[in-house]
Amino acid sequence: MRQVVQRMLQMMMLAALVLSSAACDSPSSHTQGVGHGVGELVIAADVAERLAQFVPTPIEADTSGLSATQQEVLDHLLRASEYMNAIFLRQAWTGNPGLLEKLEHSQDPRARAALDYFRMSYGPWDRLDETPFIGDEERPETAGYYPEDLSREEMEAWLEQHPEDKEALQSLYTVVRRHGKDLVATSYAVEYRKWLKPAAKELQQAADITENDSLAEYLRRIALAFLRDDVDLETLSYLYYEADLAWMDLDSRVEITIGPYEVYEDRLFGYKAAFVSFVTLVDPEESAKLVRYKAELPAMERNLPIPDEYKNLNRGTESPMRVVDEIYTAGDTRAGVQTIAFNLPNDERVRETKGSKKVMLRNVMNAKFEQILQPIAGEILVPDQLALLSQEQFFNEVLFHELAHGLGPGKIQVDGRDTEVRLELKELYSSMEEAKADVMGVYNLIYLMDRGVVPVEGKRPLFVTYLAGMFRSTRFGVAEAHGRGTALQFNYLLEKGAIREGSTEGTFAVNWDTFADGIRDLLRELCVLQARGDYRGASELLQRYGVLSPALERGIARLEEIPVDLLPSYPAAEGRS
Ligand code: ZN
Repeated sequence: MRQVVQRMLQMMMLAALVLSSAACDSPSSHTQGVGHGVGELVIAADVAERLAQFVPTPIEADTSGLSATQQEVLDHLLRASEYMNAIFLRQAWTGNPGLLEKLEHSQDPRARAALDYFRMSYGPWDRLDETPFIGDEERPETAGYYPEDLSREEMEAWLEQHPEDKEALQSLYTVVRRHGKDLVATSYAVEYRKWLKPAAKELQQAADITENDSLAEYLRRIALAFLRDDVDLETLSYLYYEADLAWMDLDSRVEITIGPYEVYEDRLFGYKAAFVSFVTLVDPEESAKLVRYKAELPAMERNLPIPDEYKNLNRGTESPMRVVDEIYTAGDTRAGVQTIAFNLPNDERVRETKGSKKVMLRNVMNAKFEQILQPIAGEILVPDQLALLSQEQFFNEVLFHELAHGLGPGKIQVDGRDTEVRLELKELYSSMEEAKADVMGVYNLIYLMDRGVVPVEGKRPLFVTYLAGMFRSTRFGVAEAHGRGTALQFNYLLEKGAIREGSTEGTFAVNWDTFADGIRDLLRELCVLQARGDYRGASELLQRYGVLSPALERGIARLEEIPVDLLPSYPAAEGRS
């Protein structure tokens, strides 16, 4: 754990490099792959220390109340999920399967820890600071989605010359490969056929036996999208769209979210979706309690601190919300820092018509509050604000972060052209969108508290919990979307006087009088950049604030003994199938 600060610094330098380095995408350093041809694996000396940053934590879920049929459905869903691990390993880097095999046979005394860390990182690069812990190659921004030597410039030049390839090469559901001198797209259904076919079979079997129609409908549709390797991209995209619609309508005790969803892993452009699975147990009563916030969504959109023309007043607000316990997760979200809530689908066509669904992973959230946030707050907050730290406000913050993903600019117009924020902000999108969701979440809670929809006594606990929470995410690394987006918030709010340093070095306090104004101003900046699709403005904002500043560093230095995140195990899923 003592490595955290030092490696944060390295990572900062790396992030600066990435930001300023249009010209440094030289192919030569990436083509060899980690340890290939060398025979011996070179494992970092501190690999056990890196692993120790993640505290082993069982994620408990009580499945004992399920019927025999539900148990059988669950078994199929767990088996289908396992294939997402195999696919995501290849999406993260095409060299991973070969390296994994080498690692499994290595006699190196560090191989055991390296293998554990490799499994949780889905590759030889540390998910926190990007550095390699096996070999010495830099992590390619292409992940396994593009040829490793492909640069942004080359892809953009190719698209300029071949505009007809745009849809296929930029698709969420294709990988890009070289055929001679050409760039060609291969659909996921073809590229990952070996795992998608058996996964689809499990999903179909679960669909055949479940007594829940909404679950059967979703499982059949997603299985179809997995299976159809014979259709054009437009059709494939339509199959996923239909699966997303069915996912929005899910209403079942045992649920699954499975397929290609988030684009964080694609550092080159943020176009490609990573395979993931969440198997969850829904708490219907707690979920029903959240319905009152749904009615407030249009009011929240109207209340955004931006000009009316930038507001998205026609969005669907169906927006279901679920409080669930996680039984198992696989693929993208299993890597590195664990997800505590998600908001899907990302498909703007679905969001415009049906809104998006927020899923709160309660058991993971509670584990993080106890294992991580409480100890962090004890170090970071000034003593007289520490007592205000609140598990309830942590839950609210996460919930309203997810709600915020469904508010504000999505589909936009730039110079009269119809486009999306995601496509315009490219690789900066994830950091900008995560920062927006954090800040807008607090902004909307303040709004509802001022109107008495949420108890107003929660205000100060919210501010304090949010302040401590920034240190939780910043430690994920500023090269990672959430971490960089949080550094941006922290540095901005400190500069504007919304928060201040305490008298003990590395402690911080909320300034009660100016905090809400700081949140409003930052939210305006973020939303306006998004609404304009302003890549350059976003880049400038992130270069200025999305950095490991001295103040941030002073805070992080106090957290060396606190785990960065959880290393989950899933007792409810183990030994079933
Ligand atoms: Zn988010």
